[in-house]
Amino acid sequence: MTREIHHFIKGQSQTGTSGRWADIYNPNTGEVQARVQLATKEELSNAVAIAKEAQIGWAATNPQRRARVLFKFKALLEEHMQELAELLASEHGKVVEDAKGDVQRGLEVIEFACGIPHLLKGEFTEGAGPGIDVYSMRQPLGVAAGITPFNFPAMIPMWMFGVAIACGNSFILKPSEKDPSVPVRLAELMREAGLPDGVLNVVHGDKEAVDGILTHPDIKAVSFVGSSDIAHYVYSTGTAHGKRVQAMGGAKNHGIILPDADIDQVVKDLVGAAYGSAGERCMALPVAVPVGDETAERLIAKLKPAMENLKPGLSSDPEAAYGPVVTQAHKEKIEHYIQMGVDEGADLLVDGRGFSLQGYEKGFFIGPSLFDNVTPNMRSYQEEIFGPVLQIVRAKDLEEAASLPSNHQYGNGVAIFTRNGLAAREFASKVNVGMVGVNVPIPVPVAYHTFGGWKRSAFGDVNQHGPEGVRFYTKVKTVTQRWPSGDVGDQSFIIPTMQ
Ligand code: NAD
Repeated sequence: MTREIHHFIKGQSQTGTSGRWADIYNPNTGEVQARVQLATKEELSNAVAIAKEAQIGWAATNPQRRARVLFKFKALLEEHMQELAELLASEHGKVVEDAKGDVQRGLEVIEFACGIPHLLKGEFTEGAGPGIDVYSMRQPLGVAAGITPFNFPAMIPMWMFGVAIACGNSFILKPSEKDPSVPVRLAELMREAGLPDGVLNVVHGDKEAVDGILTHPDIKAVSFVGSSDIAHYVYSTGTAHGKRVQAMGGAKNHGIILPDADIDQVVKDLVGAAYGSAGERCMALPVAVPVGDETAERLIAKLKPAMENLKPGLSSDPEAAYGPVVTQAHKEKIEHYIQMGVDEGADLLVDGRGFSLQGYEKGFFIGPSLFDNVTPNMRSYQEEIFGPVLQIVRAKDLEEAASLPSNHQYGNGVAIFTRNGLAAREFASKVNVGMVGVNVPIPVPVAYHTFGGWKRSAFGDVNQHGPEGVRFYTKVKTVTQRWPSGDVGDQSFIIPTMQ
């Protein structure tokens, strides 16, 4: 019988009633390995009621005790790392080592959130007026919700619930319906770590559950990560219903290569950043911009042989460069974009289509592809492919190169490779993109900084995790207090600004 994945509500597995399911594939074999329930609005609403009730006690639990749960959770993540990575790889398709990185990156946000007693300390002014003190405090919002994509089923849920729960909120997680098992395991481990029932709930679903979240009056904040059209929909619908919303979208990150860059290092970095995890990363580097034809020729001369060693394989194979992509539909979408690039006149130097792994012919594998002479007017350049495809766009100088990421509809990450500090500094300052790497191909900020792109890569004003995450999941209250001495009736109240 097909394995079934149920909701996790009030500390336990809960069978849904909708009768609607989504298939979960094993991307290595192409077979359906499980199915997941898709919630109705009513089921979502019931989970929100439970989260709302649980939040009262959780918010009243002091921050140090809340942090202790997270410390235990972190230890459990380390203990279960192998199991989580294997489960993740079996549904997503990324190789197990990469899956460990997914868990590890989330764990680092939990480590950050363990510092919540310090992070929640407010501000205090003694003597703002005669006998008057002013202080501010950060209070939780109530019930928050997270809607997450398939490509980081461990890290992205932890970006969200780690900080939200540390701040004293309860949480509804609606993970991707393509790889929902790890999010459920994370919720189980949070319970094992001592989290009270109802504080973290996992409700599986599709648009119906998402719409339930976006319109529910008791959900105060929504964090979303996924593709840009849906991110925009989530942002506009959620804010129209009075919610605080952060909605991260798609990406098309550029790597600018100046003539003085260390080309051997660039090739190593590009191979990892463009093809690692089959290119299914929002911080992948799918566009290389060599400055000058000579730089382009040197790059291609070293990149092509390096790609010959780039062999996709089973997600359980430690020798595999990367695993299969998540679904057959996604594989076809990538192949469609490769054909589009050919039709638009770009030069396909290496064609990854038609790759097949012996014994796993129905798996969703796709080889690495490399395009040269891609131009900004091509649709295959303008849109996100989200697969193992690297596009080279040649630029005549740094100004032209820098204008490409700055003018692109997406603005998640960008990298510059050079030995020229001044050029890099100016580029980092001026480029119209949210996260910049200088000789760093995937500039994902560490957990105690903050993650977020610009333009159509993020809707909303507040980033994920780091101090911005704490701001997102709390509201500020400011208190002006006076403790008069003597006869209260004799003292007139003086607001500081009136004197
Ligand atoms: P997706 O947009 O298809 O799905 C994301 C979430 O939205 C899922 O939980 C899904 O169930 C839900 N959803 C899907 N269709 C919906 C609809 N019509 N209405 C309401 N909800 C809907 O994204 P994906 O394919 O799972 O993930 C890949 C995308 O996520 C890529 O575009 C990638 O760049 C992006 N991403 C962005 C970041 C970032 O931080 N900017 C990080 C990771 C992934």
